Amino acid sequence: MNNQYYGKLIFELSRPGRTGYSLPKNELPQHSLADLPTALRRRAPLSLPEVDEPTVVRHYTNVSNNNFGVDTGFYPLGSCTMKYNPKINEEVAALPSFTALHPAQPADTVQGALHVYYNVQRILSEIAGMNEFTLNPYAGAHGELTGLMVIRSYHMARGDARRTKIIVPDSAHGTNPASAAVCGLQIVEVKSTPDGTVDVDDLRPLLDETVAGMMMTNPNTLGIFEKEIPEIARLVHECGGLMYYDGANLNPMLGVCRPGDMGFDVMHINLHKTFSTPHGGGGPGAGPVGVRHGLEQFLPNPRVKRADDGSFYLSADDTALGSISSFLGNYGILLRAYAYLLSLGCEHLRMAGQLSVLNANYVKESLKDYYKLPIPGLCKHEFVFDGLREAYGGDHHDPAHVTTLDVAKRLLDYGFHAPTIYFPLLFHEAMMIEPTETESRETLDAFIEVMKTIAEEARTNPELVKGAPHHTPVRRLDDVKAVKEPRFTFNDYQ
Ligand SMILES: *Cc1c(COP(=O)(O)O)cnc(C)c1O
Repeated sequence: MNNQYYGKLIFELSRPGRTGYSLPKNELPQHSLADLPTALRRRAPLSLPEVDEPTVVRHYTNVSNNNFGVDTGFYPLGSCTMKYNPKINEEVAALPSFTALHPAQPADTVQGALHVYYNVQRILSEIAGMNEFTLNPYAGAHGELTGLMVIRSYHMARGDARRTKIIVPDSAHGTNPASAAVCGLQIVEVKSTPDGTVDVDDLRPLLDETVAGMMMTNPNTLGIFEKEIPEIARLVHECGGLMYYDGANLNPMLGVCRPGDMGFDVMHINLHKTFSTPHGGGGPGAGPVGVRHGLEQFLPNPRVKRADDGSFYLSADDTALGSISSFLGNYGILLRAYAYLLSLGCEHLRMAGQLSVLNANYVKESLKDYYKLPIPGLCKHEFVFDGLREAYGGDHHDPAHVTTLDVAKRLLDYGFHAPTIYFPLLFHEAMMIEPTETESRETLDAFIEVMKTIAEEARTNPELVKGAPHHTPVRRLDDVKAVKEPRFTFNDYQ
Protein backbone atom coordinates (compact mmCIF):
# COMPACT_ATOMS: atom_id res chain seq x y z
CA MET A 1 0.00 0.00 0.00
CA ASN A 2 3.06 2.25 -0.41
CA ASN A 3 1.92 4.92 -2.86
CA GLN A 4 2.51 8.65 -3.26
CA TYR A 5 -0.20 9.44 -0.68
CA TYR A 6 1.11 7.04 1.93
CA GLY A 7 2.23 8.54 5.23
CA LYS A 8 1.63 12.12 4.02
CA LEU A 9 -0.36 14.79 5.79
CA ILE A 10 -3.11 16.35 3.70
CA PHE A 11 -1.28 19.72 3.89
CA GLU A 12 1.78 18.16 2.26
CA LEU A 13 -0.39 17.21 -0.72
CA SER A 14 -1.64 20.78 -1.06
CA ARG A 15 -0.83 22.79 -4.27
CA PRO A 16 -1.65 26.52 -4.45
CA GLY A 17 -4.83 27.23 -6.38
CA ARG A 18 -5.96 23.64 -6.70
CA THR A 19 -9.59 22.90 -5.73
CA GLY A 20 -11.84 19.91 -5.54
CA TYR A 21 -15.09 21.72 -6.33
CA SER A 22 -16.60 24.24 -8.71
CA LEU A 23 -19.43 26.52 -7.69
CA PRO A 24 -21.56 28.81 -9.86
CA LYS A 25 -20.56 32.47 -9.70
CA ASN A 26 -21.92 34.11 -6.58
CA GLU A 27 -24.43 36.78 -7.62
CA LEU A 28 -25.44 37.89 -4.15
CA PRO A 29 -24.73 41.55 -3.32
CA GLN A 30 -21.37 41.91 -1.61
CA HIS A 31 -22.55 44.43 0.98
CA SER A 32 -24.04 41.67 3.21
CA LEU A 33 -20.49 40.99 4.37
CA ALA A 34 -20.16 44.59 5.53
CA ASP A 35 -22.97 43.96 8.02
CA LEU A 36 -20.80 41.52 9.93
CA PRO A 37 -19.25 43.15 13.01
CA THR A 38 -15.51 43.69 12.53
CA ALA A 39 -14.70 41.76 15.70
CA LEU A 40 -16.28 38.64 14.21
CA ARG A 41 -14.52 38.86 10.84
CA ARG A 42 -11.54 36.69 10.03
CA ARG A 43 -8.39 38.81 9.97
CA ALA A 44 -6.17 36.51 7.92
CA PRO A 45 -7.30 34.03 5.28
CA LEU A 46 -7.90 30.56 6.67
CA SER A 47 -5.09 28.18 5.85
CA LEU A 48 -6.72 25.15 4.26
CA PRO A 49 -5.19 22.41 2.13
CA GLU A 50 -5.72 23.01 -1.59
CA VAL A 51 -6.33 19.63 -3.16
CA ASP A 52 -8.41 17.98 -5.86
CA GLU A 53 -11.15 15.50 -5.03
CA PRO A 54 -9.28 12.25 -5.90
CA THR A 55 -6.42 13.34 -3.65
CA VAL A 56 -8.83 13.92 -0.75
CA VAL A 57 -10.48 10.53 -1.28
CA ARG A 58 -7.15 8.68 -1.58
CA HIS A 59 -5.68 10.51 1.39
CA TYR A 60 -8.51 9.61 3.75
CA THR A 61 -8.87 6.08 2.43
CA ASN A 62 -5.15 5.51 2.99
CA VAL A 63 -5.42 6.98 6.48
CA SER A 64 -8.38 4.72 7.28
CA ASN A 65 -6.35 1.69 6.13
CA ASN A 66 -3.73 2.54 8.73
CA ASN A 67 -6.29 2.18 11.45
CA PHE A 68 -6.82 -1.04 13.36
CA GLY A 69 -10.33 -2.03 14.39
CA VAL A 70 -12.28 -5.09 15.41
CA ASP A 71 -13.49 -5.20 11.78
CA THR A 72 -9.89 -5.53 10.53
CA GLY A 73 -8.36 -7.97 13.02
CA PHE A 74 -8.28 -9.69 16.39
CA TYR A 75 -8.42 -7.18 19.24
CA PRO A 76 -7.80 -8.86 22.64
CA LEU A 77 -7.92 -5.65 24.70
CA GLY A 78 -8.61 -6.69 28.29
CA SER A 79 -11.20 -4.81 30.35
CA CYS A 80 -12.70 -3.50 27.12
CA THR A 81 -14.73 -6.39 25.67
CA MET A 82 -13.93 -5.55 22.06
CA LYS A 83 -16.46 -7.99 20.68
CA TYR A 84 -17.50 -7.97 17.06
CA ASN A 85 -20.40 -5.63 16.22
CA PRO A 86 -22.90 -7.51 14.02
CA LYS A 87 -23.80 -5.45 10.95
CA ILE A 88 -27.53 -6.03 11.51
CA ASN A 89 -27.22 -3.64 14.48
CA GLU A 90 -25.96 -0.93 12.13
CA GLU A 91 -28.79 -1.53 9.68
CA VAL A 92 -31.40 -1.21 12.43
CA ALA A 93 -29.80 1.98 13.77
CA ALA A 94 -29.77 3.46 10.25
CA LEU A 95 -33.50 2.97 9.60
CA PRO A 96 -34.97 6.33 8.53
CA SER A 97 -37.92 5.81 10.89
CA PHE A 98 -35.36 6.37 13.68
CA THR A 99 -32.79 8.66 12.08
CA ALA A 100 -35.41 11.12 10.83
CA LEU A 101 -36.85 11.75 14.31
CA HIS A 102 -36.24 15.01 16.12
CA PRO A 103 -35.48 14.72 19.83
CA ALA A 104 -37.87 17.56 20.65
CA GLN A 105 -40.86 15.95 18.93
CA PRO A 106 -43.97 15.55 21.11
CA ALA A 107 -44.07 12.14 22.81
CA ASP A 108 -47.26 11.07 21.02
CA THR A 109 -45.42 11.28 17.67
CA VAL A 110 -42.44 9.12 18.78
CA GLN A 111 -44.17 6.27 20.59
CA GLY A 112 -42.11 3.62 18.77
CA ALA A 113 -38.80 5.20 19.74
CA LEU A 114 -39.91 5.53 23.37
CA HIS A 115 -41.10 1.92 23.33
CA VAL A 116 -37.59 0.79 22.29
CA TYR A 117 -36.04 2.85 25.12
CA TYR A 118 -38.53 1.38 27.58
CA ASN A 119 -37.89 -2.20 26.42
CA VAL A 120 -34.10 -1.79 26.71
CA GLN A 121 -34.64 -0.53 30.28
CA ARG A 122 -36.75 -3.58 31.08
CA ILE A 123 -34.35 -6.10 29.47
CA LEU A 124 -31.33 -4.63 31.26
CA SER A 125 -33.22 -4.67 34.57
CA GLU A 126 -33.96 -8.36 34.05
CA ILE A 127 -30.37 -9.22 33.06
CA ALA A 128 -28.87 -7.27 35.97
CA GLY A 129 -31.46 -8.03 38.65
CA MET A 130 -32.14 -4.32 39.16
CA ASN A 131 -35.48 -2.58 39.52
CA GLU A 132 -35.04 0.34 37.13
CA PHE A 133 -32.56 1.71 34.61
CA THR A 134 -31.75 5.04 33.01
CA LEU A 135 -30.14 4.80 29.58
CA ASN A 136 -29.13 8.47 29.47
CA PRO A 137 -25.41 8.36 30.47
CA TYR A 138 -22.95 8.50 27.58
CA ALA A 139 -20.25 6.05 28.76
CA GLY A 140 -19.16 3.76 31.56
CA ALA A 141 -17.35 6.54 33.40
CA HIS A 142 -20.38 8.81 32.96
CA GLY A 143 -22.53 5.99 34.35
CA GLU A 144 -20.21 5.73 37.36
CA LEU A 145 -20.58 9.45 38.02
CA THR A 146 -24.36 9.21 37.64
CA GLY A 147 -24.55 6.16 39.92
CA LEU A 148 -22.38 7.81 42.58
CA MET A 149 -24.59 10.91 42.39
CA VAL A 150 -27.58 8.62 43.01
CA ILE A 151 -25.79 7.26 46.10
CA ARG A 152 -25.05 10.81 47.29
CA SER A 153 -28.68 11.85 46.69
CA TYR A 154 -29.88 8.86 48.67
CA HIS A 155 -27.76 9.80 51.71
CA MET A 156 -28.63 13.49 51.45
CA ALA A 157 -32.35 12.70 51.19
CA ARG A 158 -32.02 10.88 54.53
CA GLY A 159 -30.32 13.95 55.95
CA ASP A 160 -27.02 12.12 56.33
CA ALA A 161 -24.36 14.52 55.05
CA ARG A 162 -21.40 12.83 56.74
CA ARG A 163 -21.03 10.09 54.15
CA THR A 164 -18.29 11.46 51.91
CA LYS A 165 -16.02 8.43 51.52
CA ILE A 166 -16.10 5.79 48.84
CA ILE A 167 -14.17 2.53 49.07
CA VAL A 168 -12.41 1.43 45.88
CA PRO A 169 -10.29 -1.74 45.47
CA ASP A 170 -6.64 -1.32 44.40
CA SER A 171 -7.40 -3.41 41.28
CA ALA A 172 -10.14 -1.01 40.11
CA HIS A 173 -10.25 0.59 36.68
CA GLY A 174 -8.90 4.16 36.78
CA THR A 175 -12.31 5.62 36.02
CA ASN A 176 -13.61 4.45 39.44
CA PRO A 177 -11.50 6.80 41.58
CA ALA A 178 -11.74 9.49 38.88
CA SER A 179 -15.56 9.43 38.84
CA ALA A 180 -15.64 9.42 42.63
CA ALA A 181 -13.37 12.45 42.75
CA VAL A 182 -15.53 14.32 40.21
CA CYS A 183 -18.53 13.47 42.40
CA GLY A 184 -16.74 15.14 45.35
CA LEU A 185 -16.17 11.90 47.24
CA GLN A 186 -13.02 10.99 49.10
CA ILE A 187 -11.42 7.77 47.83
CA VAL A 188 -10.34 5.10 50.30
CA GLU A 189 -8.38 2.21 48.79
CA VAL A 190 -8.92 -1.37 49.88
CA LYS A 191 -6.19 -3.91 49.15
CA SER A 192 -6.31 -7.20 47.24
CA THR A 193 -5.27 -10.58 48.61
CA PRO A 194 -2.52 -12.53 46.77
CA ASP A 195 -5.24 -14.35 44.82
CA GLY A 196 -6.35 -10.99 43.39
CA THR A 197 -9.69 -10.52 45.16
CA VAL A 198 -10.74 -7.88 47.70
CA ASP A 199 -9.15 -8.43 51.11
CA VAL A 200 -12.10 -8.52 53.52
CA ASP A 201 -9.81 -8.13 56.55
CA ASP A 202 -8.39 -4.94 55.05
CA LEU A 203 -11.94 -3.72 54.38
CA ARG A 204 -13.42 -4.15 57.88
CA PRO A 205 -11.54 -1.32 59.65
CA LEU A 206 -12.39 1.11 56.82
CA LEU A 207 -16.13 0.88 57.43
CA ASP A 208 -17.77 3.58 59.53
CA GLU A 209 -20.51 6.21 59.46
CA THR A 210 -18.58 8.35 56.91
CA VAL A 211 -18.73 5.69 54.18
CA ALA A 212 -21.14 6.47 51.34
CA GLY A 213 -20.52 3.17 49.63
CA MET A 214 -18.14 0.79 47.94
CA MET A 215 -17.38 0.25 44.27
CA MET A 216 -16.63 -3.23 42.98
CA THR A 217 -16.03 -4.80 39.60
CA ASN A 218 -16.99 -8.44 39.18
CA PRO A 219 -15.33 -10.38 37.71
CA ASN A 220 -12.61 -7.94 38.71
CA THR A 221 -10.04 -6.50 36.33
CA LEU A 222 -7.89 -9.61 36.79
CA GLY A 223 -10.78 -11.69 35.44
CA ILE A 224 -11.32 -13.27 38.86
CA PHE A 225 -14.79 -13.78 40.31
CA GLU A 226 -15.10 -12.02 43.69
CA LYS A 227 -16.41 -14.82 45.89
CA GLU A 228 -16.70 -12.73 49.06
CA ILE A 229 -19.32 -10.35 47.67
CA PRO A 230 -22.22 -11.52 49.91
CA GLU A 231 -20.07 -10.92 53.00
CA ILE A 232 -18.70 -7.61 51.66
CA ALA A 233 -22.23 -6.40 50.81
CA ARG A 234 -23.41 -7.38 54.29
CA LEU A 235 -20.58 -5.42 55.95
CA VAL A 236 -21.05 -2.32 53.77
CA HIS A 237 -24.84 -2.31 54.27
CA GLU A 238 -24.41 -2.84 58.01
CA CYS A 239 -22.41 0.38 58.23
CA GLY A 240 -25.05 2.23 56.19
CA GLY A 241 -23.25 2.38 52.83
CA LEU A 242 -24.47 1.29 49.40
CA MET A 243 -22.83 -1.16 47.00
CA TYR A 244 -21.88 0.08 43.52
CA TYR A 245 -21.26 -2.47 40.76
CA ASP A 246 -18.99 -1.49 37.87
CA GLY A 247 -20.63 -3.57 35.14
CA ALA A 248 -17.92 -3.22 32.49
CA ASN A 249 -17.12 -6.91 33.04
CA LEU A 250 -20.70 -8.16 32.90
CA ASN A 251 -20.04 -10.20 29.76
CA PRO A 252 -19.09 -13.55 31.36
CA MET A 253 -22.02 -13.40 33.77
CA LEU A 254 -24.78 -12.92 31.19
CA GLY A 255 -27.68 -15.17 32.02
CA VAL A 256 -25.66 -16.92 34.73
CA CYS A 257 -25.79 -14.58 37.71
CA ARG A 258 -26.98 -11.05 38.46
CA PRO A 259 -25.43 -8.15 40.39
CA GLY A 260 -28.81 -7.36 41.96
CA ASP A 261 -28.97 -10.83 43.49
CA MET A 262 -25.45 -10.42 44.92
CA GLY A 263 -26.39 -7.39 46.98
CA PHE A 264 -25.49 -4.47 44.73
CA ASP A 265 -27.70 -1.38 44.93
CA VAL A 266 -26.49 0.73 41.99
CA MET A 267 -24.60 -0.24 38.85
CA HIS A 268 -23.71 0.70 35.31
CA ILE A 269 -23.48 -1.35 32.14
CA ASN A 270 -21.29 -0.47 29.14
CA LEU A 271 -23.47 -1.06 26.08
CA HIS A 272 -20.37 -0.53 23.92
CA LYS A 273 -18.73 -3.50 25.64
CA THR A 274 -21.19 -6.18 26.75
CA PHE A 275 -23.92 -5.37 24.25
CA SER A 276 -21.87 -5.08 21.13
CA THR A 277 -22.12 -1.49 20.05
CA PRO A 278 -19.14 0.28 18.46
CA HIS A 279 -16.37 1.12 20.85
CA GLY A 280 -13.27 3.22 20.84
CA GLY A 281 -12.01 6.58 19.73
CA GLY A 282 -13.85 8.23 22.59
CA GLY A 283 -17.41 7.40 21.68
CA PRO A 284 -20.28 7.50 21.19
CA GLY A 285 -21.07 4.89 23.81
CA ALA A 286 -23.70 4.38 26.48
CA GLY A 287 -23.44 3.66 30.20
CA PRO A 288 -26.95 2.83 31.45
CA VAL A 289 -27.34 2.99 35.25
CA GLY A 290 -29.51 0.56 37.17
CA VAL A 291 -30.80 0.84 40.73
CA ARG A 292 -32.56 -1.44 43.14
CA HIS A 293 -36.03 -0.77 44.45
CA GLY A 294 -36.19 2.42 46.52
CA LEU A 295 -33.61 4.40 44.54
CA GLU A 296 -35.55 4.99 41.28
CA GLN A 297 -36.63 8.49 42.29
CA PHE A 298 -33.01 9.70 42.20
CA LEU A 299 -32.33 8.62 38.60
CA PRO A 300 -31.66 11.51 36.22
CA ASN A 301 -34.33 13.21 34.10
CA PRO A 302 -35.91 12.64 31.68
CA ARG A 303 -37.17 9.13 32.28
CA VAL A 304 -39.37 7.08 29.95
CA LYS A 305 -42.45 5.69 31.66
CA ARG A 306 -45.47 3.69 30.58
CA ALA A 307 -48.96 5.01 31.28
CA ASP A 308 -51.90 2.80 32.28
CA ASP A 309 -53.23 2.93 28.72
CA GLY A 310 -49.95 1.45 27.43
CA SER A 311 -48.59 4.67 25.92
CA PHE A 312 -45.13 6.03 26.74
CA TYR A 313 -44.25 9.46 28.12
CA LEU A 314 -41.26 11.40 29.40
CA SER A 315 -41.25 12.27 33.06
CA ALA A 316 -39.14 14.70 35.04
CA ASP A 317 -39.12 14.03 38.78
CA ASP A 318 -38.30 16.67 41.42
CA THR A 319 -36.35 14.13 43.45
CA ALA A 320 -34.10 13.30 40.48
CA LEU A 321 -30.48 14.39 40.52
CA GLY A 322 -31.20 16.55 37.47
CA SER A 323 -30.26 15.94 33.88
CA ILE A 324 -26.92 14.39 32.90
CA SER A 325 -27.27 14.26 29.12
CA SER A 326 -29.09 16.01 26.34
CA PHE A 327 -32.49 14.38 25.78
CA LEU A 328 -32.24 10.57 26.12
CA GLY A 329 -28.50 10.08 25.67
CA ASN A 330 -26.94 8.32 22.67
CA TYR A 331 -30.13 6.91 21.23
CA GLY A 332 -28.43 5.29 18.21
CA ILE A 333 -26.31 3.18 20.55
CA LEU A 334 -29.42 2.05 22.44
CA LEU A 335 -30.94 0.89 19.15
CA ARG A 336 -27.85 -1.16 18.31
CA ALA A 337 -27.91 -2.81 21.74
CA TYR A 338 -31.63 -3.54 21.33
CA ALA A 339 -31.00 -5.26 17.98
CA TYR A 340 -28.20 -7.30 19.57
CA LEU A 341 -30.31 -8.29 22.59
CA LEU A 342 -33.26 -9.38 20.47
CA SER A 343 -31.16 -11.28 17.95
CA LEU A 344 -29.47 -13.29 20.73
CA GLY A 345 -32.40 -13.80 23.07
CA CYS A 346 -32.08 -15.37 26.52
CA GLU A 347 -30.39 -18.68 25.61
CA HIS A 348 -27.78 -17.25 23.29
CA LEU A 349 -26.97 -14.36 25.59
CA ARG A 350 -26.05 -16.94 28.20
CA MET A 351 -23.95 -18.80 25.65
CA ALA A 352 -22.08 -15.60 24.74
CA GLY A 353 -20.91 -15.23 28.33
CA GLN A 354 -19.90 -18.85 28.68
CA LEU A 355 -17.97 -18.87 25.40
CA SER A 356 -16.07 -15.77 26.45
CA VAL A 357 -14.93 -17.66 29.56
CA LEU A 358 -13.99 -20.76 27.57
CA ASN A 359 -11.96 -18.71 25.06
CA ALA A 360 -10.07 -16.82 27.78
CA ASN A 361 -9.15 -20.03 29.59
CA TYR A 362 -8.09 -21.69 26.32
CA VAL A 363 -5.67 -18.86 25.48
CA LYS A 364 -4.38 -18.67 29.07
CA GLU A 365 -3.67 -22.39 29.38
CA SER A 366 -2.03 -22.49 25.93
CA LEU A 367 0.43 -19.73 26.78
CA LYS A 368 1.20 -20.10 30.48
CA ASP A 369 4.48 -21.98 29.81
CA TYR A 370 5.77 -18.93 27.93
CA TYR A 371 4.29 -16.05 29.94
CA LYS A 372 4.16 -15.62 33.72
CA LEU A 373 0.71 -16.31 35.13
CA PRO A 374 0.68 -14.66 38.57
CA ILE A 375 -2.80 -15.89 39.46
CA PRO A 376 -3.26 -19.46 38.28
CA GLY A 377 -6.55 -21.31 38.03
CA LEU A 378 -9.82 -20.67 36.28
CA CYS A 379 -10.44 -17.13 35.06
CA LYS A 380 -13.60 -15.59 33.71
CA HIS A 381 -13.60 -13.53 30.49
CA GLU A 382 -10.03 -12.22 30.77
CA PHE A 383 -6.73 -12.90 32.51
CA VAL A 384 -3.44 -11.18 33.25
CA PHE A 385 0.10 -12.32 32.45
CA ASP A 386 3.02 -10.65 34.21
CA GLY A 387 5.26 -10.48 31.13
CA LEU A 388 7.45 -13.20 29.61
CA ARG A 389 8.81 -16.03 31.74
CA GLU A 390 12.46 -15.78 32.82
CA ALA A 391 13.45 -18.49 30.33
CA TYR A 392 12.15 -16.26 27.53
CA GLY A 393 14.01 -13.10 28.52
CA GLY A 394 11.34 -11.77 30.86
CA ASP A 395 13.28 -11.44 34.13
CA HIS A 396 12.33 -7.90 35.12
CA HIS A 397 15.31 -7.65 37.51
CA ASP A 398 17.52 -7.69 34.41
CA PRO A 399 17.55 -4.15 32.94
CA ALA A 400 17.90 -5.63 29.43
CA HIS A 401 14.84 -7.87 29.77
CA VAL A 402 12.23 -8.05 27.04
CA THR A 403 9.28 -6.09 28.35
CA THR A 404 5.55 -6.33 27.92
CA LEU A 405 5.74 -3.18 25.78
CA ASP A 406 8.19 -4.96 23.45
CA VAL A 407 5.86 -7.95 23.09
CA ALA A 408 2.89 -5.64 22.49
CA LYS A 409 4.77 -3.79 19.73
CA ARG A 410 5.93 -7.03 18.12
CA LEU A 411 2.31 -8.29 18.00
CA LEU A 412 1.51 -5.36 15.68
CA ASP A 413 4.03 -6.71 13.17
CA TYR A 414 2.02 -9.94 13.07
CA GLY A 415 -1.27 -8.10 12.46
CA PHE A 416 -2.82 -8.42 15.92
CA HIS A 417 -3.90 -5.58 18.16
CA ALA A 418 -1.98 -5.59 21.43
CA PRO A 419 -3.69 -6.56 24.67
CA THR A 420 -4.10 -4.00 27.45
CA ILE A 421 -0.64 -3.48 28.97
CA TYR A 422 0.63 -2.22 32.35
CA PHE A 423 -2.89 -2.43 33.78
CA PRO A 424 -3.96 -3.44 36.36
CA LEU A 425 -1.14 -1.87 38.37
CA LEU A 426 -0.69 -4.88 40.64
CA PHE A 427 2.17 -6.35 38.55
CA HIS A 428 5.35 -5.01 36.90
CA GLU A 429 4.66 -6.26 33.40
CA ALA A 430 0.89 -6.69 33.23
CA MET A 431 -0.56 -7.92 29.96
CA MET A 432 -4.32 -8.25 30.10
CA ILE A 433 -5.92 -10.45 27.48
CA GLU A 434 -9.63 -10.72 26.68
CA PRO A 435 -10.38 -12.73 23.54
CA THR A 436 -14.23 -12.42 23.77
CA GLU A 437 -16.73 -15.01 22.54
CA THR A 438 -16.89 -13.82 18.96
CA GLU A 439 -13.51 -15.24 17.87
CA SER A 440 -13.18 -18.56 16.06
CA ARG A 441 -10.92 -21.39 17.17
CA GLU A 442 -8.68 -20.63 14.15
CA THR A 443 -8.19 -16.99 15.21
CA LEU A 444 -7.40 -17.98 18.79
CA ASP A 445 -4.91 -20.60 17.57
CA ALA A 446 -3.25 -18.08 15.24
CA PHE A 447 -2.88 -15.63 18.13
CA ILE A 448 -1.48 -18.33 20.41
CA GLU A 449 1.06 -19.35 17.76
CA VAL A 450 2.21 -15.75 17.31
CA MET A 451 2.53 -15.23 21.07
CA LYS A 452 4.70 -18.37 21.24
CA THR A 453 6.77 -17.20 18.26
CA ILE A 454 7.39 -13.85 19.96
CA ALA A 455 8.48 -15.65 23.14
CA GLU A 456 10.96 -17.70 21.05
CA GLU A 457 12.20 -14.53 19.36
CA ALA A 458 12.65 -12.89 22.77
CA ARG A 459 14.80 -15.83 23.81
CA THR A 460 16.93 -16.15 20.66
CA ASN A 461 16.92 -12.63 19.17
CA PRO A 462 15.73 -10.12 21.79
CA GLU A 463 16.82 -7.12 19.70
CA LEU A 464 14.26 -8.07 17.06
CA VAL A 465 11.47 -7.80 19.64
CA LYS A 466 12.90 -4.71 21.33
CA GLY A 467 13.08 -2.91 17.97
CA ALA A 468 9.46 -3.70 17.02
CA PRO A 469 7.27 -2.72 15.33
CA HIS A 470 9.08 -3.10 12.02
CA HIS A 471 6.15 -3.21 9.58
CA THR A 472 3.68 -0.56 10.78
CA PRO A 473 3.13 2.89 9.15
CA VAL A 474 4.96 4.52 12.07
CA ARG A 475 7.56 2.83 14.27
CA ARG A 476 7.80 3.12 18.05
CA LEU A 477 6.47 6.48 19.16
CA ASP A 478 7.65 8.61 22.04
CA ASP A 479 4.43 8.46 24.00
CA VAL A 480 5.75 10.66 26.82
CA LYS A 481 6.57 13.41 24.35
CA ALA A 482 3.17 12.95 22.75
CA VAL A 483 1.62 13.78 26.12
CA LYS A 484 4.04 16.54 27.12
CA GLU A 485 4.32 18.25 23.72
CA PRO A 486 1.15 17.47 21.80
CA ARG A 487 0.94 18.92 18.28
CA PHE A 488 -2.63 19.33 17.24
CA THR A 489 -2.41 21.39 14.06
CA PHE A 490 -0.35 21.34 10.88
CA ASN A 491 1.20 24.67 11.85
CA ASP A 492 2.61 23.02 14.99
CA TYR A 493 4.64 20.74 12.74
CA GLN A 494 6.27 23.54 10.76
C1 LIG B 1 -14.14 0.36 30.35
C2 LIG B 1 -14.25 0.32 31.81
C3 LIG B 1 -14.76 1.43 32.52
C4 LIG B 1 -15.08 2.76 31.87
O1 LIG B 1 -15.98 2.69 30.82
P1 LIG B 1 -15.97 3.77 29.63
O2 LIG B 1 -17.18 3.41 28.85
O3 LIG B 1 -14.69 3.56 28.89
O4 LIG B 1 -16.06 5.13 30.25
C5 LIG B 1 -14.91 1.29 33.88
N1 LIG B 1 -14.55 0.16 34.53
C6 LIG B 1 -14.05 -0.90 33.87
C7 LIG B 1 -13.70 -2.13 34.65
C8 LIG B 1 -13.87 -0.86 32.50
O5 LIG B 1 -13.37 -1.90 31.86
